[in-house]
Amino acid sequence: MALVNEHFLKLSNNYLFSDIAKKVNAFKVSHPKERVISLGIGDVTQPLCPAVIEAMHKAIDEMSKKETFRGYGPEHGYDFLREAILKNDYLSRGIHLDISEIFVNDGAKSDTGNIQEILRWDNSIGVTDPIYPVYIDSNAMIGRAGVFENGRWSSVTYFPCTAENNFTPQLPDHRVDMIYLCYPNNPTGTVLSKDELRKWVNFALRNESVIFYDSAYEAYIRDENIPHSIYEIKGARKCAIEFRSYSKTAGFTGVRCGYTVIPKELQAVTLDGKPVELNHLWERRQSTKFNGTSYISQRAAEATYTPEGREQTRKTIDYYMGNAEIMHQALNKLGFTVYGGKNAPYLWVKTPIGMDSWKFFEQLLYGAGIVCTPGVGFGPSGEGYIRFTAFGNREDVEEAMKRIGEWMK
Ligand SMILES: *Cc1c(COP(=O)(O)O)cnc(C)c1O
Repeated sequence: MALVNEHFLKLSNNYLFSDIAKKVNAFKVSHPKERVISLGIGDVTQPLCPAVIEAMHKAIDEMSKKETFRGYGPEHGYDFLREAILKNDYLSRGIHLDISEIFVNDGAKSDTGNIQEILRWDNSIGVTDPIYPVYIDSNAMIGRAGVFENGRWSSVTYFPCTAENNFTPQLPDHRVDMIYLCYPNNPTGTVLSKDELRKWVNFALRNESVIFYDSAYEAYIRDENIPHSIYEIKGARKCAIEFRSYSKTAGFTGVRCGYTVIPKELQAVTLDGKPVELNHLWERRQSTKFNGTSYISQRAAEATYTPEGREQTRKTIDYYMGNAEIMHQALNKLGFTVYGGKNAPYLWVKTPIGMDSWKFFEQLLYGAGIVCTPGVGFGPSGEGYIRFTAFGNREDVEEAMKRIGEWMK
């Protein structure tokens, strides 16, 4: 009989959001008249902007005619999009990249999960904690994370980010080969300054580690001094891979498009010390396992860089950040300690009187009909916090804040 990859059995049976959905459904069954407001899952609510819709319609029309029909595209993405990325996302910040360093994909989840394949299974890994679960789980699937015991993976180095250290991860006292950073952060909504990010880049250069830098939320940065790209830091090209996505930037969670940057200077070594370009390995991997992102999605992504596209996506981001501001003020007024939400669409809220995350989740659900995400679902340092997203409709956000206020009385 065929043998399974037993590393999969070490993963917890349920994905965090299916546990939440179960509890919400149980509540709905016992409270059929109550309208539940979700500020839980990190999905957007506002429709695609007109510039994107127009580009998609046009792309579909091209697909409908023999002369302009497109079949398989290049695995690494069409040059029209890669060029737009170079120019708008990097050159505009003084970062010079080559087109061959950009890999267009169907969203950042695939690449943040798959990228670990190009490094040996016995490299050590480190992640900020709490964190987007994809990084650890994808490593657990090939055995790199060890075993899960008492809420922790035995072979993972956790860099705790809590109120006590102002959500600023401290460098480990030992070498870590693969480091995952996500800024602006999901779930805490906090950011890393240039000086702090520089410490990580220098650590990686000293230890010859690779940093996997997920900047899916860079478009939400308001503060001018916060880096949007890790390549704003000197030396990062030699040690970092960056992931971006149009999901949160332009509402592409259902359209699917993102990209990964792997500079040619970034190398890792074979067991006998021979350097290898990671760009080359990833290209090889992608051309075998990936057949490109749909032409329509890529034309849609390109449209986000036109003057109209920029203006319109900016407006939607402003709308979400307006939600974040309303939530921040309301929760503060009610006496909650609130973090994040200034340069990211997430608010990270301390549970009252040291209550645990799941308990507060249930109280909020049963007391006010509001769904949040329990912080501990993102890692051990998330215990004692809950996450609210700012991706809701304005009316729902206002109603939710009103309900929490009434419930608190
Ligand atoms: C939403 C999100 C992404 C984007 O995922 P897509 O697959 O591009 O939709 C990536 N990283 C983090 C941390 C996210 O929260």
